[in-house]
Amino acid sequence: MRLYRASSFIFPRSLQLRLFAVCFVGTHLPLTAFLVWATITGQLDLLGVLLVTGATLIGTIIAVGGIYALLAPIDVAARALNDAENGEIALVPTVGGTDLAARLLAGVNRAAGATAERVRKLSREASVDPLTNVLNRRGLLQELDALTEQETTGALALVDMDHFKLVNDQLGHDTGDRVLRDFARVLSGTVRQTDFVARWGGEEFLVYFRGATEAQAQSVLMRIAERIRNEPLAHLGERPLTFSAGTTAASRRTLDESLRRADAALYEAKHRGRARILSNAELG
Ligand code: GH3
Ligand code: MG
Ligand code: MG
Repeated sequence: MRLYRASSFIFPRSLQLRLFAVCFVGTHLPLTAFLVWATITGQLDLLGVLLVTGATLIGTIIAVGGIYALLAPIDVAARALNDAENGEIALVPTVGGTDLAARLLAGVNRAAGATAERVRKLSREASVDPLTNVLNRRGLLQELDALTEQETTGALALVDMDHFKLVNDQLGHDTGDRVLRDFARVLSGTVRQTDFVARWGGEEFLVYFRGATEAQAQSVLMRIAERIRNEPLAHLGERPLTFSAGTTAASRRTLDESLRRADAALYEAKHRGRARILSNAELG
């Protein structure tokens, strides 16, 4: 590194030209000595000077071209690292072998692969709820944003466990966690692959039924209610655990308004005694 730093004043923006300068000085010392000697001894003729100058010119062109070509892998590696800094993580072509350039390119690829994997993992962790493994709010909004307005048209349900606080109080927090995991599994397992299930808050889930009518969404929710009636997730005393839901038609563009409507329907479902699925259209 010392020579590198010490020589950086020569062509500070081009390592290739600096390398050429070092080679030029190195190879031209004996040539200069020969020219001085030939001049002193009177052996230098015009033809000799022209020959030496021509050969030097050709050698210079070959050397500069060769140095640029041989250092191309370093240029490729530098560009790839710059792009990675800007968030574009791409693999570079490898050259095989074990020389400096081959090791550098292989190292860039290893770093790019590891970084891409880490980014994927972090992005997944940032969009999935760790307890239930369904989407969190951020994940749901991301999924919806990735679709066209038409693709997001459908129905939306806010689903809230009834008296869930009592599950924690009577059966313990761990059982509460287990119930949330099981409920999320039932929701995800019953809706279609194209629908979205997200944990919207503590014991409240959002189900986005893509391309479905509200009636279709309600019939899926009724199947879920029946399933957990037949296979209860937990009992509060003698009573199997239930849920309430509010549904509405929805689209990405009208999401905030759809959420307000679903929430109003959910609130009313709770008010009317829980364990029911209510459409916003049924509200007075
Ligand atoms: P309601 O029928 O009106 O919805 O009553 P509720 O008891 O279900 O609703 P409330 O909002 O009073 O209580 C929600 C409870 O959910 C309280 C909170 O401790 C619990 N909870 C929220 N997140 C978690 C969680 O991650 N794990 C567990 N075990 N409990 C949670
Ligand atoms: Mg609740
Ligand atoms: Mg709640």
